[in-house]
Amino acid sequence: MSGLLIRDTIIVPVDNEKKDKLWFTGDVAIEESKIKEVGKNLQGKYRDFEIIEGKNSLTMPGFVNCHTHAAMTMLRGYADDLPIIEWLSEKIWPCEEHLTEKDIYWGTKLAISEMVKSGTTTFADMYSFMDQVAYAVDESGIRASLSRGIIGKDEEKDELALRESEEFVKEWHGKGEGRITCMLGPHAPYTCSPAYIKKIKKLANELGVGIHIHLAEALSEVEDIKSRYKMRPIELMDSIGLFTGGHVLAAHCVHLSKEEINILVNNNVGIAHNPQSNMKLASGIAPLPILLEKGALVGLGTDGAASNNNLDMLEEMRTCALFHKVSTMDPTVLSAYQVLKMSTREGARVLGLNDVGTLAVGQKADVIMFDLKKPHMTPLHDPIANIVYSAQSADVKTVIVNGKIIMKDRSLITMDEEKIIFEAQRLGEDLVKRK
Ligand SMILES: [Zn+2]
Repeated sequence: MSGLLIRDTIIVPVDNEKKDKLWFTGDVAIEESKIKEVGKNLQGKYRDFEIIEGKNSLTMPGFVNCHTHAAMTMLRGYADDLPIIEWLSEKIWPCEEHLTEKDIYWGTKLAISEMVKSGTTTFADMYSFMDQVAYAVDESGIRASLSRGIIGKDEEKDELALRESEEFVKEWHGKGEGRITCMLGPHAPYTCSPAYIKKIKKLANELGVGIHIHLAEALSEVEDIKSRYKMRPIELMDSIGLFTGGHVLAAHCVHLSKEEINILVNNNVGIAHNPQSNMKLASGIAPLPILLEKGALVGLGTDGAASNNNLDMLEEMRTCALFHKVSTMDPTVLSAYQVLKMSTREGARVLGLNDVGTLAVGQKADVIMFDLKKPHMTPLHDPIANIVYSAQSADVKTVIVNGKIIMKDRSLITMDEEKIIFEAQRLGEDLVKRK
C-alpha cells in the first residue's frame, strides 16, 4: 500500500472562504506524509491505496492546541477554585519541584492519548524535562512544537537554562520525520527579567527558532510589570525587541490596551487564546472580537490540565464562541467557521507552521474523521455548526498524523492506553505525596 484513500466522506477542508466550498462530499487521497488530492471518485486513480470508508463521516484537518503544558495532566484535579497567584505559588509550583523524568514522560503520554482521542494532531508545549516530552511525541506519532520552560533565578542557573534550551533545540528540532519543532520558552515577563528575555531572544534568532511565552494573562501581572518597569507587559516586550526578527507565540494576551493590540497585530504575533483556563482562573476576558477584527493571528489552546481540566479542543471551541457572545451581549460575534479556523489553520500559523491545518493539496496529512451517525449530530444542515456546537470528543473515530493512522475506530495504534492510565494514576498519586 502506498497511500490512504478516504472515500465518500463529507470534507471540511478549512482552506477557503467560499460559501459553496466550505464543505462538500468527496474523497481525500494521502500519499506518504501529504495530502495528494481532494476530489470526487478518486478510487480509480489510486487503486493500490488503502481504503478508509468515509460514509456517514466528516473529514477535516486535525486540531492544533496552541498552548498547553502536557504533563500537567499529573496535577489534574489536584488544586482547583483558587486565585492564580495562590494556585501557582502554594499548590502548583511546590508540586512541580518534585516532578521526575518519569512523571513527565507518562504525564505527556497521558496528555497525548487524551488529545488524540479528542482530535488534536498538533500541540504547543512548554514545560520541563523536555527530552521526555520529545520521546513521548516521537513514539506516539503526534506533531508538536516544544519549548523548555525558562524561569529566571540567578546568573548561574539562568546560563544553565539557556545552554539546556540550546541543546534541546539542536537535538530535537526537525526530528520525528519533521513532526517535532522547537521554540525557546521564557515563561513570562514576571518570571524572567527583560535583560534575560533579551538574551533568550538573541539565542532564538541564532538558532532560527521562535519564542513561546505567557503574556498579559492576569491583571496582577499587568500591575506588577507596570510598577516595576512603568510599562504594560506587551509594551515592555516590544521595547526590548521581542517581536522583531523571529516568530513569537504569546499565550493568553487577556489584558490589552489599544496600543498593545496594535503592537500584536503589526508584528503578526501568534496569540494562543485559552478561554476555559481564563474562565477557570478568572483571569479575565480577552478582547477576541476586536483582535480578530483588527487582523490579529489567533489560535485556540487548552492550557495545562490543571487549569482547564481537560485537553479537549471541541469543548474549547464551543466555550470560545459562547464566552465571547455572552460577554459582548452579541450573538453575531465569532461565527462557527471563525472558531473552526482558529482551532486548525490559524492555530498552525500561530505555531509558525505553514504546511499544517488545512486539507489543501501538498499540506501535511494531519486528518481527523468524525462519526456523524449520532443523535446529537442529526440532522446535518450545516456540518460546521454541528462540529463546533454539537460534536463530542467521542465522535472522533479516526486520526491520521503525517500520513500515518494513529487512531482507528477509537483505538490508539501507537500507544498502550491501558498502560498509560495505569502509570499516570500510580505516579500522579505518588507526586502529590512528595510535596
Ligand atoms: Zn500556560
